[in-house]
Amino acid sequence: MNYQSTRNAALTASSAEAILNGLAPDGGLYAMPALSGLDFDWQRCLTLSTQGMATEILCALLPDFTHAEMEQLVHAAYTGKFETEDLTPTVPVGEDTVLELFRGPTSAFKDVALSMLPHLMTAAKKKCGVDDEILILTATSGDTGKAAMEGFCDVAGTKIIVFYPDGGVSAVQKAQMVTQGGDNTCVAAVRGNFDDAQTAVKQVFAKVGGENLLAGKGVRLSSANSINIGRLAPQVVYYFRAYADLVRRGTVAVGERVDYVVPTGNFGDILAGYFARELGLPVGTLVCASNANNVLTDFLRTGRYDRRRPFYKTVSPSMDILVSSNLERLLYLLSGDDKLIADLMKQLSENGEYEVPADMLEKLHELFWAGFCDDEGAKTAIGKVWKDDHYLCDTHTAVAWDVAQQYKQANPEHNAVVVLSTASPYKFPAAVLEGIGEKAEGDEFDVMEQLHKVTGVPVPKNLADLRSRAVRHRDVIDRGEMLDYVLGKAAAEK
Ligand SMILES: *Cc1c(COP(=O)(O)O)cnc(C)c1O
Repeated sequence: MNYQSTRNAALTASSAEAILNGLAPDGGLYAMPALSGLDFDWQRCLTLSTQGMATEILCALLPDFTHAEMEQLVHAAYTGKFETEDLTPTVPVGEDTVLELFRGPTSAFKDVALSMLPHLMTAAKKKCGVDDEILILTATSGDTGKAAMEGFCDVAGTKIIVFYPDGGVSAVQKAQMVTQGGDNTCVAAVRGNFDDAQTAVKQVFAKVGGENLLAGKGVRLSSANSINIGRLAPQVVYYFRAYADLVRRGTVAVGERVDYVVPTGNFGDILAGYFARELGLPVGTLVCASNANNVLTDFLRTGRYDRRRPFYKTVSPSMDILVSSNLERLLYLLSGDDKLIADLMKQLSENGEYEVPADMLEKLHELFWAGFCDDEGAKTAIGKVWKDDHYLCDTHTAVAWDVAQQYKQANPEHNAVVVLSTASPYKFPAAVLEGIGEKAEGDEFDVMEQLHKVTGVPVPKNLADLRSRAVRHRDVIDRGEMLDYVLGKAAAEK
């Protein structure tokens, strides 16, 4: 029993159970205390291929799986799926290094975790003696749904249904989803906005669970969202990959600390950096970069989390978040105090705010630095990095880039800096074009071409041939039809 709920340490689970359950029964997240006590040879890990690193790291974090099993799962998840064999390449840009996390099958950083999760889930199912088929339900505002479908596509023993708001995603995102291949994937547009779709999905989960609607049907519902430990664990790997690259290039010697700047939303990406540090990797400061929704900047500076504030729609939409779920895991790991965490989370849901004790704030300040950058700042950063270094970055990466410069200015003694890049610039072509001083014209596909003409930066293959791919999914439904839709798909033979 390696995992326990952040809100009640007596609620334990094996790593396989934690992956299958997603959330702990009391609504807490599963966390493994005392990672730093694991016997982990981080220096040897640095000498391995990315898949080799993934095997070692995932075995350490998910001890139910044997080395041979994990090797196989990693191989099945990643081989031939990414643009490069190292999965997440690093590129020196100016005096810093960019870690490109978007070279996966849908050009989104979520590919790193969502390629691995289906394989962990099906293996966890076997370990727990569960025969049921897993049916993944996801509401998406754009990127996650596509990355999840691509990850689960044709993975035996799984099906996935993605709901997106009709008219509420970009043309490119829609095209990515409705052309999705695979016999076990299913996409429907839902009339209403994203919150409507998200709420309705939660209601389907509650109804199916509460009334046992799938009992005896050989199917169980699950979700692919980022609170699942099986999504978090694979993200630890690229911190090692980047560090090894810096050593190879002579930027740092083994043992020297490296600072990582992370464009943050739900706090999964940056928390993986904390895990890497706990496993022994010489991680210096973890810099948390936010957009105008800067609730985390305030929190990490003051120790007060206050979600009662305006919600801004920005050009970095994947970071438009006011309640950062994975932060709960960090607070638990730093304090080891489940009562405290249960109390803080209660305050958050009842009053919309909480404040951590002074000793916890002190620990946070030792590990993290925080800053934010608004839309204007992000576009300026895109223009500047392009002009100075001929590197084209997307809007989320631009936020991190700008905050990295703020961090370095405020901390002249900083270590070598790695900026995590979470999306291809072609995912947000209009804002990127504007950033480099051009006016976007035509529909989103035209703008992609325009960006390519102006910069010469290659368009990722999965985006380049989108327009010509056949549409396979045309369902449009009302919210009230979602439950029947799900039950119908659950009963259907593939
Ligand atoms: C999801 C996402 C993020 C935020 O990552 P978290 O793990 O939620 O903090 C940042 N950028 C992009 C492009 C994303 O898709």
